[in-house]
Amino acid sequence: MFDTIYFDKNYVCPLCGGKIESVQVKEFENILKKYRIKDCVAHAEDMRIVRNVLFCNKCLTSTGKKIYIVIGRGILLGITDTLDEATKLLNEMNLERIILWYHELYQRYMDEQREKASYRRFLDELHEWYSKRFYEIPEDQKSRRFLCIWNRRHFEGALSPVEAIERFITCKKLLETLNEVWLEGKEILEIYYEVEITAGEESWSVDIYQDDINERCGFNWTWKVISKKKLKIDGEKENELPDWCIVVDEPFSDEVVHKAVHKWLSVRGYEFDVKMIAVEHAKGSEPLKERADL
Ligand SMILES: [Zn+2]
Repeated sequence: MFDTIYFDKNYVCPLCGGKIESVQVKEFENILKKYRIKDCVAHAEDMRIVRNVLFCNKCLTSTGKKIYIVIGRGILLGITDTLDEATKLLNEMNLERIILWYHELYQRYMDEQREKASYRRFLDELHEWYSKRFYEIPEDQKSRRFLCIWNRRHFEGALSPVEAIERFITCKKLLETLNEVWLEGKEILEIYYEVEITAGEESWSVDIYQDDINERCGFNWTWKVISKKKLKIDGEKENELPDWCIVVDEPFSDEVVHKAVHKWLSVRGYEFDVKMIAVEHAKGSEPLKERADL
């Protein structure tokens, strides 16, 4: 077993020009953990420099390029190209810096705790939902407990536990990727759709694409916006749709779609601006291209 360290900046393979994003190491706990700079990788007394050689996963060759992994007070301080730089980094450690790093580590620790709790709650509720057959309860007999199921949105309308899990995972991926994109500094999300719908159409639904999200998550589309009229005609219920389906009560227009996506984001705490672009101006995403090739 091993652990993997992801670089902040990618290295380029000197042999094939491929991107090298990470290195496998055996110096830590060897529990298949993925580490990034500033992560806690070892005990607080651990101060050392680990030499490693970059391996290219594209041409499956050891590149011969040495790197130095610096660990100070158990924290992964950085990766350098030379031993001198590594030593300098280690020597620059001071109390103030350590406090700052621990401050960030605590934040990450809390994020992880929240994440863990959300998976645990999902599993508990999934079990309760199916063991108590909550899906059979008629609308007018729904108990307080039923209404308190936090993950109800993923359960109602799902045809099986597998579909409920898929909905949960998809939502998590979508929200995580939005966080990622925001942290990378992107503030405007370009969205578009492919189909032609006449403005003013009352019964409509449209798949909305956001290329970055689709690319990173492997989604075919990002959101679906659907009108109440269409929902009624299809005999579907709003509460049974997955979280990425947005229901609106207005005739079709670009503005309505734009507003719907913007609102979906803002009620979830995202401050993105949304920009509608024409399909011919979109770069497209891998999943979309693959689908077009079929
Ligand atoms: Zn290579």
